[in-house]
Amino acid sequence: MNDTEHAPQVAFAAPPAVGEWREVAAGIFWSRIALPFRLNHVNVYLIDDGSSWNILDTGLCNKATQETWEHLLGGPMAGRPISKIIVTHHHPDHVGLASWLADKGGAEVVMSGTEYLLGLTYWLDSDAMKADHYREFYRARGLERDIAESILNRSARYQSLTSPLPFSFRRVLHGDQLRLNARTLDVITGGGHAPEQMLLYCSDARVFFAADQVMLGITPNVSVSPRNPNGDVLGLFLASLHALARTIDAGALVLPGHHLPFTGLAGRVAEIDRHHAARLGDIVHFCADAPRSTADLLQVLYRHPIDRAVVELAFGEACAHVNRLLEQGRLAARVDGEGVERYTSEGAVAR
Ligand SMILES: [Zn+2]
Ligand SMILES: [Zn+2]
Repeated sequence: MNDTEHAPQVAFAAPPAVGEWREVAAGIFWSRIALPFRLNHVNVYLIDDGSSWNILDTGLCNKATQETWEHLLGGPMAGRPISKIIVTHHHPDHVGLASWLADKGGAEVVMSGTEYLLGLTYWLDSDAMKADHYREFYRARGLERDIAESILNRSARYQSLTSPLPFSFRRVLHGDQLRLNARTLDVITGGGHAPEQMLLYCSDARVFFAADQVMLGITPNVSVSPRNPNGDVLGLFLASLHALARTIDAGALVLPGHHLPFTGLAGRVAEIDRHHAARLGDIVHFCADAPRSTADLLQVLYRHPIDRAVVELAFGEACAHVNRLLEQGRLAARVDGEGVERYTSEGAVAR
């Protein structure tokens, strides 16, 4: 592939204002919900199926989001029922208001099984991650105790950002076709950012709902969870991207979960691939001089001091790069006298 020919191109120069919408393909509308974070918005999509609305992703559970939805439901969307609330993954900015919206109009919630159940476990047991077993994960990877504690305490935030997960949902699997009246969408799931994130492709309209898997300007967080400490989540993520580049029509309009819609999916995949390849190379280089812990790698991956609010994501991402390199045999792990795992790039063999 010639990357310059397929370089990603912004499809719409500016987003709709919060609470407004824009038609981006026939019967498909793009709107935005505000988020109180550095990433200050999430994209949501409203799909007209001829007789009802289908909502893709919801924003957080808070008063401002409810007001935005009330504005949309009472304005441009008024007069038609809502059939489905389609939720791409369990993160609060996407699932946050799913049950609230579903209860309003009797709509069903559509999700992958893993994303529903994972969201449910966080919602039902907000202290689940504050176990010594997970504390040990951070210690063994060299993270300072007080930083590890702040990460463990953050898991309790899920409940405060999300309405209760719906009592029931419609489960979809990779390869399914989701029928919205006259429209048919292909269900594609991918790992990395979330375990079974749902992406949707409408080949007739050449529209691809990419959720947080492929975006312009940012790469999604790809983190190892202490629940799956040796998982090669970066490998899963890159494999998913390569499959998308092969499957999705080169001219398709990509509608992501954050930032602007674009065309040129394969070109964007190539950019993300290069970004992670460079970071993997930096780590191998750094570990050639001396054995390093995962916490040591933060200074290589992030040039600036890391804010406490994002250290969980940064550290999870450092673990993901380590696990990929161990899987590839480019790093070897040894546990030091303090019980901390340290990595070297000399003499590494695949595990
Ligand atoms: Zn996400
Ligand atoms: Zn998101």
